[in-house]
Amino acid sequence: AEPADLEIVDHVRALLEESTADSSGDEQCGGEQIPDEQGSGEQAVDDRGGGDRTAAELEILARFVQGRVFPAWDSTTLDIGPSSCYEAIARAAGTNVSPVNVEDRLAELGEIGEVAASYEYGGQQGLGAFTDTAGDAGGDSLTVREVDRTLRDLAAADGDGSADRKIDILFGLFNRCSSEEARYLARLVLSEMRIGVGEGTVRDAIAAAFDVPTDRVERALQVSNDYGRVARVAREDGRAGLDAMDLEVGRPVQAMLAQTGTVTGVLEEWSEAAVEWKYDGARVQLHYDPDPERTGESKAEVRVFSRNMEDVTDALPEVVEFAEETLERPAILDGEVVAVDEDGSPLPFQEVLKRFRRKHDIAKARENVTVRPVFFDCLHADGTDLLESPLTARHEQLVELLAEGDGAAGDSPDEIRGLSLLWRTDDPEEIEAIDAEALEAGHEGIMLKDPDSTYSPGRRGKHWRKRKPDVETLDCVVTGAEWGEGRRATFLGTFELSVRADDSDGALETVGKVATGITDETLADLTDLLEPHIIAETGQEVDLEPEIVFEVGYEEIQSSPTYSSGYALRFPRFQGVRHDKNPSDADSIERLERLQGQ
Ligand code: ATP
Repeated sequence: AEPADLEIVDHVRALLEESTADSSGDEQCGGEQIPDEQGSGEQAVDDRGGGDRTAAELEILARFVQGRVFPAWDSTTLDIGPSSCYEAIARAAGTNVSPVNVEDRLAELGEIGEVAASYEYGGQQGLGAFTDTAGDAGGDSLTVREVDRTLRDLAAADGDGSADRKIDILFGLFNRCSSEEARYLARLVLSEMRIGVGEGTVRDAIAAAFDVPTDRVERALQVSNDYGRVARVAREDGRAGLDAMDLEVGRPVQAMLAQTGTVTGVLEEWSEAAVEWKYDGARVQLHYDPDPERTGESKAEVRVFSRNMEDVTDALPEVVEFAEETLERPAILDGEVVAVDEDGSPLPFQEVLKRFRRKHDIAKARENVTVRPVFFDCLHADGTDLLESPLTARHEQLVELLAEGDGAAGDSPDEIRGLSLLWRTDDPEEIEAIDAEALEAGHEGIMLKDPDSTYSPGRRGKHWRKRKPDVETLDCVVTGAEWGEGRRATFLGTFELSVRADDSDGALETVGKVATGITDETLADLTDLLEPHIIAETGQEVDLEPEIVFEVGYEEIQSSPTYSSGYALRFPRFQGVRHDKNPSDADSIERLERLQGQ
């Protein structure tokens, strides 16, 4: 965890401590009676029996200072746009202020907080919502809790006339603001708090205010995605309370992300690599709870979340059905949904994204583009959190969970529906073969993961690597090929690549073979293109007249005695035919030398 800016941490800590300093009751709080929680929605911060008002304030403040009303896992939004906010400000600011006037000031001052603070509002007795949580003004002073509750009511307004109702509610709040309070209310409503307080700051402030280790706060935040709750637990139950916070089925966790890396690089770092196919789709997190008593429903509870923790359950009924057919015990699974055509072949990932955004006519959308989930990780299985277990143990759990239900076609891993396979190896040739297979099956390539690593939500760490894109490519002459096998017997494949020797008589020297990155359709085209140039055949191998130039990507250029150029391309990938180039335009050994030195 990166330490946040200390000065800001200090301020926020002071703010958090202030909200906890005195819990002696309402008479300290400007005499304002907090109305009951009625009508505030289920998610509103509760009072735990009405006693601890300041704990509730703390919970809210930890979110407000980040410009949030709802915890990060909750995709509820206020759903009120800038123009509605301008209208509420204008109405509260008095009869001679119009929304146009607010917009003019915005153009001038550049920021809605400044604009809101430049007016005076209705009652003008309200002090204390943001500047002083206790408040010391008259009977109508706003409190943090009231702002929170009112904004939750605003979020909950829907249906006919809700846009006007939201403006009315917001007008009511501005009407009771001081100018300074309005500055922060406007920013909060439009999610631009602009006080330089990021997540790291609040994390560090919680640790400092309640004297708990930062890494425990961090862990609690990872499992809960709720700064408010973590602050409150840290205050009430300290470290033990934080340690007892767990994942909850139904509440999303941030996805672990990947850095770029190379096969050779990771094999130097780790003794072995876990290799998986990289599916070209969109990330999903599946939450499944079969227990009707716990969920209060008569059937299993299934929720599907996107990479941004948005609830996309309704848009992806196939994933829900998959869970119902395949799972039997509570689980949180991490995976990818891919779009497939009628034959089950992958479609471009834009097709998946269209499905994610779809709100209506889902049954129809599903007919055109079907999505299929593939899971590669398991964060929770039947009451046990697995974030701190090694990847291979999590994967074993995943295999077990997916094999239980009726949906699995068989017992061996490659028969288990929805399971992404994992290979452990330290052999670069084997990794190359897995990569080739993945590409052949129409996927993006491979992911390389540290088999012993834990799951770090939201982190783009070193433990997950995606293959670096090929930055440079080479233009190589195709000097040989091999006839394929089985269903590919009539296609040429495995193309021998050569580059120009440095002398000028047109001599070519070999540098490697490329077999990956080529679909059946392309292989058929390449066969048509190359067959006329066959000059000799021995068994499956053919020699080709040097005519055709391929553009190939690669991971690395190595010195190697295997090929006559003295170099070998590691992980060469076919990118395309350079119809515009002749062998004399192909790359030379000299260029290989230069690229290797880079
Ligand atoms: P980024 O995650 O770097 O912001 P991105 O969304 O384009 O960018 P990539 O970086 O290309 O994704 O790759 C990581 C993504 O690959 C994951 O977030 C996940 O959606 C997808 N993915 C596909 N297969 C796997 C797998 N086996 N393991 C992990 N992620 C996978």
